[in-house]
Amino acid sequence: MTGAVASSVTAPVGTTRLTSAPAADFATHLATFGPLPTSNPAVLLSALHDSGLEGRGGGAFPAWRKLAAVPGRERARGRRVVVIGNAAEGEPLSSKDATLLTVAPHLVIDGLLAVAESLNGTATYLYVRSSVLGAVSRALGERRDARKIELREAADSFVSGEASAVVSALAGRRPVPQDRPFLLTESGLAGRPTLLHNVETLAHIALIARFGPAWFRSRGTASDPGTRLVTVTGGGRPSTVIEIGGGAGLNDVFRFAGIDPAGLSGVLVGGFHGAWVPASAGNVRLDREDLARFGATPGAGILMGQDARHCPLTVASAIATYLAGETAGQCGPCVNGLSAMASVLSRLARGERDPSLPAELRRLADLVTGRGSCHYPDGTARFVLSTLTVFDADVRAHLAGTCRKEHS
Ligand code: SF4
Repeated sequence: MTGAVASSVTAPVGTTRLTSAPAADFATHLATFGPLPTSNPAVLLSALHDSGLEGRGGGAFPAWRKLAAVPGRERARGRRVVVIGNAAEGEPLSSKDATLLTVAPHLVIDGLLAVAESLNGTATYLYVRSSVLGAVSRALGERRDARKIELREAADSFVSGEASAVVSALAGRRPVPQDRPFLLTESGLAGRPTLLHNVETLAHIALIARFGPAWFRSRGTASDPGTRLVTVTGGGRPSTVIEIGGGAGLNDVFRFAGIDPAGLSGVLVGGFHGAWVPASAGNVRLDREDLARFGATPGAGILMGQDARHCPLTVASAIATYLAGETAGQCGPCVNGLSAMASVLSRLARGERDPSLPAELRRLADLVTGRGSCHYPDGTARFVLSTLTVFDADVRAHLAGTCRKEHS
């Protein structure tokens, strides 16, 4: 496939692409990136295919496959197709979508319009956190072509960004994952074919539509092309959002964010439903190939460095307790199993010297995995198992009563 694209403006060079406009207003956006080319469905699909862009919301599904899976209005037998830009960002460690919508809202709007136009007649929504409603509303008000985009406030919960939960919320129902399987691309919002993209994915689509797949691939690696936004936390510093080239090393990302990786004992990659990478693993790259051996993926670009002076089990216990409180309350194994796991991990973190605790955690993780209507219990179990594996020395120190790390 080939993707012929053109723009009146020079493509951004270097790693700073999504964040290259000096201000968020529409005039600056146009001066920086040029106007959005008219969307030709075949050209856009081809450009996305060749770019290798994968979703930036956590699922990493190829963007072109998602687009190809949704029938245009003709193939949908006259039904209007729905396109949703998802910035619910319920993960507490992530703020990259809110940051993007604050500094470059027009790239997101462009991406939404490009996808919608290529599907020939759609309803369009932006589903965003309350903190950025004002910024997005201002941006929408700056342009005539965005009048039909409906702006909706996202629910404030961990599961609010799950695809079926977004559709439920937009339909006026509880913003929780649906308890029976359904195919979004065939029958999503109001029974219409529905395409849901993370807002960062849409912003990349807006740039690929202008500057083409070869430009997109000119940063990053063959397996992780382009750039991505990451939210970095650790070392006692406030959380920060940076744009990096695909396949960047974890240690380099921390240094770039002003955090010394030498002071970390591990890195939580992918947020509360992610997995730990031990500091001893060296400069592992933030791409799927390198992270696979730790059961991690780049996910939604979330990195939390664990301070080596602090007890990781205390941190993991707090996260497991939070996750147990965030289930949608629909499935027994999820509701009961996650609170049981959190309780056992808390006993271990507090220093209870019962050698059966790790095995009990593994048993519970096995029990809940694959037993919910959505993947929520699976993600929680993965996080707990990863904690046991990567911080095995800390688990043994707790059981022996020899842990001397700070527990605050
Ligand atoms: S598995 Fe948990 S989060 Fe998912 S639908 Fe069931 S109760 Fe809700």
